[in-house]
Amino acid sequence: MGAKKSIYVVSLGCPKNLVDTECMLGLLTREGYRITDVAEGADLALINTCGFIQDAVKESIDTILELAELRARDALSQLVVAGCFVQRYGNKLKREIPEVDLWLGTGEVENIVSAVKSTRKGVYLSRPSGLSDINCPRLRFTPFYTAYLRIAEGCSHQCSFCLIPKLRGPLRSKPLALLLREAKEMAEQGVKEINIIAQDITSFGVDLGMKWGLETLLERLAGEKGIKWIRLLYGHPCGISERLLKIIDTVDQICPYLDIPFQHVNEKILAAMGRKSEEDPRELVERIRRRNRKIAIRTTLMVGFPGERDREFKELMEFVEWAELDHIGVFVYSKEKGTRAERFEGEVASEVAEARRAEIMQLQAEISLKKNLQRIGSSVPVLVEGVSEETDLLLRGRAHWMAPEIDGQVLINKGRGEEGEIMKVKITEAYHYDLVGEIMR
Ligand code: SF4
Repeated sequence: MGAKKSIYVVSLGCPKNLVDTECMLGLLTREGYRITDVAEGADLALINTCGFIQDAVKESIDTILELAELRARDALSQLVVAGCFVQRYGNKLKREIPEVDLWLGTGEVENIVSAVKSTRKGVYLSRPSGLSDINCPRLRFTPFYTAYLRIAEGCSHQCSFCLIPKLRGPLRSKPLALLLREAKEMAEQGVKEINIIAQDITSFGVDLGMKWGLETLLERLAGEKGIKWIRLLYGHPCGISERLLKIIDTVDQICPYLDIPFQHVNEKILAAMGRKSEEDPRELVERIRRRNRKIAIRTTLMVGFPGERDREFKELMEFVEWAELDHIGVFVYSKEKGTRAERFEGEVASEVAEARRAEIMQLQAEISLKKNLQRIGSSVPVLVEGVSEETDLLLRGRAHWMAPEIDGQVLINKGRGEEGEIMKVKITEAYHYDLVGEIMR
C-alpha cells in the first residue's frame, strides 16, 4: 500500500461549521488521508470558511490567500475551500483566486471525496437541503471529553440582518433517534460534556412536526449514562418554555446555563430586526431567575443597528446594568448585502457603534468581576482540561457556567486532576473573566 496522503485543515467560524469540518475529515481519513500540522508539502489543504459578516469574510480571504501562495509554488498539491464564504460568493471566486482547485458550498459536505478525486475543478454549489452529518463518519476535533451535538441545520427565522437562512438553508432537524444514538456513542467514547448546538436549538423538531422537540430530546438524553454535563447553546428568546426551564431546574446533568442571543432590548429595534417576541427580554430574565437553580445566562448583543439612537442605546446599557448576566458578547452591526436591513434608514456611524460596543464591554467587565468575587470560598465542580497554556504549573478547567472556547476558565494551583475528570474545586481568587482555585480532597 502506498504512503497515506496528508491533509492540512483550517476550520473557521462557529462550532456548527466545525461539525461540517469534522464530517469532511471523517470522509477523507476513511479514504486514507492522514492529518498533518504543516501546510507546506501537504497533499491537500482544506479550509472550511465562515462568511456571515464582513470580519469573517476578511478572515476567510486572508487564510485562503496564505495557502494560495503555497499552491502557486506547488508546495501544496490541492487547495480546497468549503463553507459559508463559498456559498455566499459562489462562482465569482473562481476568477478572483485561481490557485484554489475546488470551491464547495455548504450543501456539498458529503461530496468532498468525489470532488477531490474528480478532474472537474472549480465551484460546486447547491441549495443546502439535507443533513450533512447523517451519513458521514465524523472525526471529532474537540478533546475526547467534550463534543458538539448538532441537532439541526439551517434556520427558518427571518432576522433582517442575518444571511444564515440564505447560506445554510431552512431549518432541518435531525431525527431524535439518530441524536440519541449519536449521544450514546459519544458517551461510550468517553465524552463527559455534550454541547447542544444549532442555529436556534429551541426550534428543534418544528419541521418534523414535534411540539416539544428540545424538551423531549433533553428528557431522553438525561438518562444517558456517562454524560455528566449537557450544555445548551444558542436558544432564540421566544423559545424558552417553562417546560425547558423546569428541566434545567430539576435534571442535574443539564448545566444550569443558557445561551440566549437577545441582540437588543428596545422594542422598536427588535421589531426592525425581526426578533420581537411577546415576552420582553427583561421579563424573560426574571422568569429564568425565578427558578430554584441559579441558571447562568450568556447573551449576544448587537450595537449600531440602523435606527439605534442614543436613547435606544441607553436602554440597552440599562438592561446590561440591571440584568447582570454572566457572559455578554457584543457585535457591531455589519451591513450585509442581500439582507433586508441593508436598505434600512438611520445608519449609525462606525465610530459611534464601536464606542458603544466598548462601553458595554467595560460595564460587563465590572459586572463579571463582581460576580466572580462573590464566588470566592465556594466549592464547584470543574471539568479539568489539562495543563494551563501559560505554565505547566497550573491546571485549567471549566465550571458549569463556562462554555468551551467562549467563556472564562478556572485555573487550578493546588491538587491533582486528570484531563476530562470533573473535580470539586474551591475558589480562592477572582479576576474579570477567570477564577483560581484548588482541588478539594
Ligand atoms: S435566529 Fe439566528 S441564524 Fe436564524 S435568522 Fe435570526 S440571527 Fe440568523
